[in-house]
Amino acid sequence: MAAMKPAHYVNGVFSTTGETFPLLSPVDGSQVGVVPEATRDVVDSAVRAARAALDGPWGRSGVEERCAFLRRIADGIEARFEEFVDAEVADTGKPRELAATVDIPRAIGNFRAYADLSYGRPERAYPTTVPGWSGSGQALNYTVRRPLGVVAIISPWNLPLLLLTWKVAPALAAGNAVVAKPSEETPSTATLLAEVIDEAGVPDGAFNLVHGHGGAAAGEYLTSHAGVDAIAFTGASATGAAIMRNAADHVTPVSFELGGKNPALVFADADLAEAVEGTVRSSFTHSGQICLCTERVYVQRPVYDEFVRALAERARTLKDYGPMISAEHRDKVLSYYRLAVAEGATVVAGGGVPSFGDARDGGFYVEPTVLTGLPQTARTVREEIFGPVCHVAPFDDEDEAIRLANDSPYGLAATVWTTDLSRAHRVAPRVEAGIVWVNCWNLRDLRTPFGGVKASGIGREGGEYSLDFFSEPVNVCVKI
Ligand code: NAD
Repeated sequence: MAAMKPAHYVNGVFSTTGETFPLLSPVDGSQVGVVPEATRDVVDSAVRAARAALDGPWGRSGVEERCAFLRRIADGIEARFEEFVDAEVADTGKPRELAATVDIPRAIGNFRAYADLSYGRPERAYPTTVPGWSGSGQALNYTVRRPLGVVAIISPWNLPLLLLTWKVAPALAAGNAVVAKPSEETPSTATLLAEVIDEAGVPDGAFNLVHGHGGAAAGEYLTSHAGVDAIAFTGASATGAAIMRNAADHVTPVSFELGGKNPALVFADADLAEAVEGTVRSSFTHSGQICLCTERVYVQRPVYDEFVRALAERARTLKDYGPMISAEHRDKVLSYYRLAVAEGATVVAGGGVPSFGDARDGGFYVEPTVLTGLPQTARTVREEIFGPVCHVAPFDDEDEAIRLANDSPYGLAATVWTTDLSRAHRVAPRVEAGIVWVNCWNLRDLRTPFGGVKASGIGREGGEYSLDFFSEPVNVCVKI
């Protein structure tokens, strides 16, 4: 595989000057590239380029023109599909099939969806009559949407291109200028995206990319910059809190997609085989490194033992799974495996580091793990681990299931497994989560609202919800 060459992209120019840091493969720990670390000056020049773009052709562009750019970007990613897949696999170590069927197709889909959604978006008009007013007593009120201006986009490493483009596409569609910073762990597909945007002829400065770390580095320089008009962030809740503190200085609006500790509720009337397979997917896909993954499973007592046995059996036989993103993250997940035991858990599957007998033994792998026996108050049950692990506990009735599901600082996603239609409709709205799946997991429609409650986020993305965040409605009132 060719070495990855991440580069900043500021005002239409690629550069790699200054300090760098190594990019490691999570599969075997080898170095696969070198990443430039953006200084405060690089970030500042990106923000200034974005501001200037708003005063130039990009700022004067109409929705048709912007949608045409979005379609060209989608076509550009499609034309270099294999290159994007290679880069995403090199950075994350995720199974190639996952990158080829989820990450890169969804990135293409994000640009096409926002081209359609923003082009077809109506504005409102209200004919107004005020009896007793001078003249005709009539006015026409209408709404126009204005972009927010310079938007900072900060994205995580788990679904690098998918989550970056999920924000970049609606931000550009709405007419903003973007400064994006991908995770320091996964800079490669973001750089390819900048190349595609450049090739698509998007005016200089409308999209800028800077690389580097988060705290006391590029991420913080960007999110505390006085020239940034809005911040869209996906990542950990603690990072969201730090960004919010910086954003407060300039009252900068934020859209946050944060962490989760997602519950699954398995009722005794569920199709058990389906519930087990669904939980295998929801707990172990991408080795649990998806914000929507299930880490808490509650099973109704009559089927509890059977469920735990079947889930543990499947966890033990999983073969084609990827590594943790970094040695640091592997160590964090393993520390939770040890903590679970210290807290009194029974490890019914996994719990350690796999041995492959090949180069992967130098990589950052942990075993898919199933735990039982912990109280609801255990840290292992309350804190986001972000690895291939779930804790399974029994419940007796519907009210208890809902109480356990909601007993969490987080509220991103939940899954309900039942064949009782009335129960599904009763339970789903009572679970404190932004997304509740019934008899499925991660079935997504890009038009639907996406986001969390409690510590899992602020605001919604998806469909019109993203366009709402990335633009401001302005009321114009014309007296007739
Ligand atoms: P992270 O918060 O450590 O980093 C995310 C991004 O923020 C990176 O680009 C990082 O460089 C930057 N960053 C870090 N500190 C910063 C600071 N002080 N100021 C500005 N930027 C800073 O998260 P991660 O480890 O990359 O990703 C995993 C986390 O993301 C998990 O908590 C997961 O649940 C969450 N996540 C949420 C969603 C969602 O849609 N809700 C999706 C994916 C991941």
